[in-house]
Amino acid sequence: MKPVLLYGLDRESLENFIAGLDEKPFRARQILSNIYRRGVLSFAGMTELSVTLREKLAVEASLELPALVEKQVSRDGTEKLLLELSDGERIETVLIPEEGRLTQCVSTQVGCAMGCRFCRTAGGGLVRNLEAGEIVAQIIAAQKYCPELGRVTNVVFMGMGEPLHNYDAVVRAFSIITSDWGISISRRKVTVSTSGLVDAIQKLPHSMLMNLAVSLNATTDEQRSAIMPVNLRWPIAELLKTLATLELPDREHFTIEYVLLGGFNDTLEDAKRLAKLLAPIKCKINLIPYNPHEGSHFKAPSQEDVRKFQEYLLEKNFVAMVRKSRGDDILAACGQLRAERAECPAAPEKES
Ligand code: SF4
Repeated sequence: MKPVLLYGLDRESLENFIAGLDEKPFRARQILSNIYRRGVLSFAGMTELSVTLREKLAVEASLELPALVEKQVSRDGTEKLLLELSDGERIETVLIPEEGRLTQCVSTQVGCAMGCRFCRTAGGGLVRNLEAGEIVAQIIAAQKYCPELGRVTNVVFMGMGEPLHNYDAVVRAFSIITSDWGISISRRKVTVSTSGLVDAIQKLPHSMLMNLAVSLNATTDEQRSAIMPVNLRWPIAELLKTLATLELPDREHFTIEYVLLGGFNDTLEDAKRLAKLLAPIKCKINLIPYNPHEGSHFKAPSQEDVRKFQEYLLEKNFVAMVRKSRGDDILAACGQLRAERAECPAAPEKES
């Protein structure tokens, strides 16, 4: 049987696993402390465990990290890692250092089934879901392969894949990343981004809901369906009605991601429709000017159009920020490095 990847087990599952090896539950706490507090990467390094237990673990369990295939470092300090999983599939993770924090963008699937037209990951379709342990392992791997960047302080589930299309693994990974016995990053610093899978949003635990980012990118169904096929299943009205009816505590809000595609969804009329649509939603808006590369179907918006778009939303009292594009010179939008290496010329690009 395949060894169990321990990064994917929460405390209770690990205690059960350890009990199955005829060991006491406190051993699970020792193992978690070794992995997440002391950064131990092998069972041999867990010296307070008995030799017998370490030998059992070496057979039954795994602490395998994805292999580093390639690391690219941008002029602005953003680092992108191409990682190879145990079955040879490849994923990307991006590390974005900013003053006082280090944000990691993690992948949740190999490829993606959602087919967004502006996204490079979409080109190859969905290959497979990642296990929870493979999601968590990206953070451990980043600490190993990029020690110069220090500890990851923020995590965004915005890499390859639609996180809510891999619901169970993502919910479990979120719990391991945010629990004090796990990676122990504050829930407020872990963001899950979705293209708008309404059925999954409705069942999300509250801890994940309060930091949910929804990729909207259009203000009419015709426009959105043209770039995001998910809209055919869950149109804008249904998506926004769901967000409006979900209860958030006073100071919490959703994030609406809006990729500005030059000449497509970046006019003042779009901004006006967006303001109307979002009026009932507790949200802040991230505006992301599209940054085309070779083979793009879309073009960048002009700075002037971005400014006008943002100003209109600010006038309407929205919190609307233009998100800085990081790592442009290394194609740091997730999915791009894998597409490059796989020589996938048909794949469009991803900005969200
Ligand atoms: S933008 Fe996200 S959801 Fe859409 S195809 Fe790309 S990875 Fe999938």
